[in-house]
Amino acid sequence: MTIEATGYCPCGQCCGWERSWIPPFRPIFSSGSLKGKAKKVGITASGTKARKGTVAADARFYPFGTVMYVPGYGYGRVEDRGGAIQGPVRLDLFFETHQQALQWGRKNVRIKVWH
Ligand SMILES: [Zn+2]
Repeated sequence: MTIEATGYCPCGQCCGWERSWIPPFRPIFSSGSLKGKAKKVGITASGTKARKGTVAADARFYPFGTVMYVPGYGYGRVEDRGGAIQGPVRLDLFFETHQQALQWGRKNVRIKVWH
């Protein structure tokens, strides 16, 4: 199926989080609809560490652990979700650097999903 995939990295620009520098936890806080909620940097909603291959999707359609192949990106595993990622045709692909995320930008790709 064809989906719209956007790139993201752990930076505040991509995630909309505002970093708070209060030690020792250094949580970051959402500036959007989840304002005030802390989120650990680089940790996904399913508790794993975000890395290349981490995919954020709507868990109602793609449960955590779903494996998919995204042309141009490679194999990915659903381990995260995002407020803007709603419905079966939206994905967010994790990149380690902001540069790579920008380079990917937004693409319509035909993915293969293993349920
Ligand atoms: Zn970024």
